[in-house]
Amino acid sequence: MTRHTPIIDRLLPRIEISPTGCWLWQGPINENGYGTIGGGPRVAGHKRVHRVTYEHFVGPIADGLQIDHLCRVRHCCNPEHLEAVTRTENVRRGIRKTRQTHCKRGHEFTPENTLRNDRQRVCLTCKRAAARAYLQRKRVAA
Ligand SMILES: [Zn+2]
Ligand SMILES: [Zn+2]
Repeated sequence: MTRHTPIIDRLLPRIEISPTGCWLWQGPINENGYGTIGGGPRVAGHKRVHRVTYEHFVGPIADGLQIDHLCRVRHCCNPEHLEAVTRTENVRRGIRKTRQTHCKRGHEFTPENTLRNDRQRVCLTCKRAAARAYLQRKRVAA
């Protein structure tokens, strides 16, 4: 690895994948909590790692857009956890802290269908389905 190695190739070996799927940056973290990496010979200063992975895997970030962390883990750079939003949208989301109206399988987060733990909302429909599947597996195994 030298400074001539493409930035993405210097970046990827330095992430650790968390159980929640976050790509946790193991290098320097700036004062705002974002991971940073040296830009290389022709780039002055440091780049934020989540912008590097977003641009590499998703595409260029249009002027005026910011990258929002859907997972709220600022030093995470999993492109699937990143979304380009306008600045006002990012600020609004930061205040609300929640984002989805539906779980990843498409069930709505209504008060009746939502369990809150300290970090996130859990879809009860999915939780019940998982419990049923687990019991079924146990019964088959028994
Ligand atoms: Zn993440
Ligand atoms: Zn669900």
